[in-house]
Amino acid sequence: MPQTAALMSDTPLSLLNRIFGYAAFRGDQAAIIEQVAGGGDALVLMPTGGGKSICYQIPALLRDGCAVVVSPLIALMQDQVSALKELGIAAAFLNSSLDGATAAQVERDFARGALKLLYVAPERLLTPRFLESLDAAHVSLFAIDEAHCVSQWGHDFRPEYLGLSVLHERYPQVPRIALTATADAATRAEILHRLALDDARVFVASFDRPNIRYRVSEKTEPRRQLIDFLAGHPGEAGIVYCSTRKKVEETAAALSQAGFSALPYHGGMDNETRRRHQERFLREDGMIMVATLAFGMGIDKPDVRFVAHLDLPRSVEGYYQETGRAGRDGEPAEAWMAWGLQDVVTQRRFIDEGEAEDTHKRIGHAKLDALVGLAEAASCRRVALLSYFGEASQPCGNCDVCLNPPTLWDATEAAQKALSAVYRTGQRFGAGHVIDVLLGKTTEKIERFGHAELSVFGIGASLDDKRWRAVLRQLVVRGLLEVDHTAYGALKLTAAARPVLKGETTVMLRPLETRTSKKKSRLAPSSGAGVHDDEDPLFLSLRAWRRETANEKGVPAYVILHDATLREIAARRPATLAELGEISGLGTKKLEAYGEDVLAVVAEG
Ligand code: ADP
Ligand code: ZN
Repeated sequence: MPQTAALMSDTPLSLLNRIFGYAAFRGDQAAIIEQVAGGGDALVLMPTGGGKSICYQIPALLRDGCAVVVSPLIALMQDQVSALKELGIAAAFLNSSLDGATAAQVERDFARGALKLLYVAPERLLTPRFLESLDAAHVSLFAIDEAHCVSQWGHDFRPEYLGLSVLHERYPQVPRIALTATADAATRAEILHRLALDDARVFVASFDRPNIRYRVSEKTEPRRQLIDFLAGHPGEAGIVYCSTRKKVEETAAALSQAGFSALPYHGGMDNETRRRHQERFLREDGMIMVATLAFGMGIDKPDVRFVAHLDLPRSVEGYYQETGRAGRDGEPAEAWMAWGLQDVVTQRRFIDEGEAEDTHKRIGHAKLDALVGLAEAASCRRVALLSYFGEASQPCGNCDVCLNPPTLWDATEAAQKALSAVYRTGQRFGAGHVIDVLLGKTTEKIERFGHAELSVFGIGASLDDKRWRAVLRQLVVRGLLEVDHTAYGALKLTAAARPVLKGETTVMLRPLETRTSKKKSRLAPSSGAGVHDDEDPLFLSLRAWRRETANEKGVPAYVILHDATLREIAARRPATLAELGEISGLGTKKLEAYGEDVLAVVAEG
């Protein structure tokens, strides 16, 4: 029977051990739980995968009554509720996806006190009818998930969230906990203000995601580079972001043709297809979703092993959010991005041609500059990323720069040649033509403008096209050249170019990245997490068993058991239920439901 009465005799830790099957709290979890279970308010800022849910789920179990969880994400509610039911906890959700009869049943269960957690969409919560049922019910706490949706400066503003201050007005004695993975100070202040959380304790976790390895490449042959990258992640689930719908379609088709299980997802597809693709990504093992930014909000699939960007995101915040969808389970994951000068040119033009006011355009350019700075970083990327959010840190040892520090080369002469070529051709041409001139190519354009007569024609034959591209991009990033996006991406000299041309300063640049071998791009096993080798036959058998079980129950595989748990089982090969119970992620209920089956798979494997 699911649990409904408060588990007063339990401690938070004993619930964590027994119900969730985890050995210890992470970070601030224990302090947050104490604050809320004790009747206080809290604002929790924790990165994706940090373990926010437990911060309200355990207080919900400890307190009398039913916790009401406000969440804007319908797809997520269902999975959260399935996962709670698997743990033997009485939970339900109310949103527009339910038919009338089911919704009425949930409302009755809520009214008679048969639930410990009820997830509701904000628009449903604010209906007079639901507020009335709240008046009559015994509410243990309110949890407001994705609390940044209340902020107009944030990226996911939801007008309904503004109405949530009513909870404080109507039920001042009920503790409230607001949670978000958005880090910046402005959004935080707005949440506190709009939700009237004046007395809340604020918990800010580190935004570091140590299990994510950050890698940035220069875009040379994006399709081939992507396939190389994917070769390091065989059979793993991941997301590939592209900037346009067309590119999403083309990339997904190319990957399918190359033998990957890939699906497209973008705003131009009909709802039904989108829903189906999302469902498959969540439920099947090892699917690759090729998507525009329309995809991802509210995907809390824990075992996304990689996020690849084939185009530059718009800001560091965007990059952090999107890459943060990888590795929520804490297992090694990889964020890889390919970018080139053209990305910057396109985005600058996009910003300038937009309808926004000048101040907003300035902000747009500044945000893009910060991201380009990160992409071009010659020291630890994680340090750069975290410092953007005001967090100091040490070189991480788990990004491409730390693992493979670039040795800068003296590019003074190359820079002089490139700058001269820009100058001699009249500062009217984009990178492509300037490079053709440097290489001494005969093209229609070169003939038309008589550029073969110039002194700079053919002076750059010692470098190839790709290397010249890298040089020009870095000269732009360092402010020696600027891109005039009002003139089709024409390159122009800046004042900073003068001392270089006159031989007064040297220019050190990053080398063009050489193709890394497939072996090297494979992730190292995480320490202590057991063999992280997907070829382990026992792990594969356990995964097959899990897929079958999940299909029978109609839930995503990770709702049954997480990858990390399967890996640990494969590594430790438990022979008894007691041994199995030692493994992280197996609480009493799951041990009871799956223990024997798992032991049988281990015994066979
Ligand atoms: P968030 O909502 O912050 O993105 P979740 O609440 O979904 O993160 O938790 C992320 C993952 O971490 C989940 O798989 C969860 O079960 C796991 N987790 C949370 N707390 C702990 C803990 N104390 N020990 C081990 N795993 C935990
Ligand atoms: Zn690093």
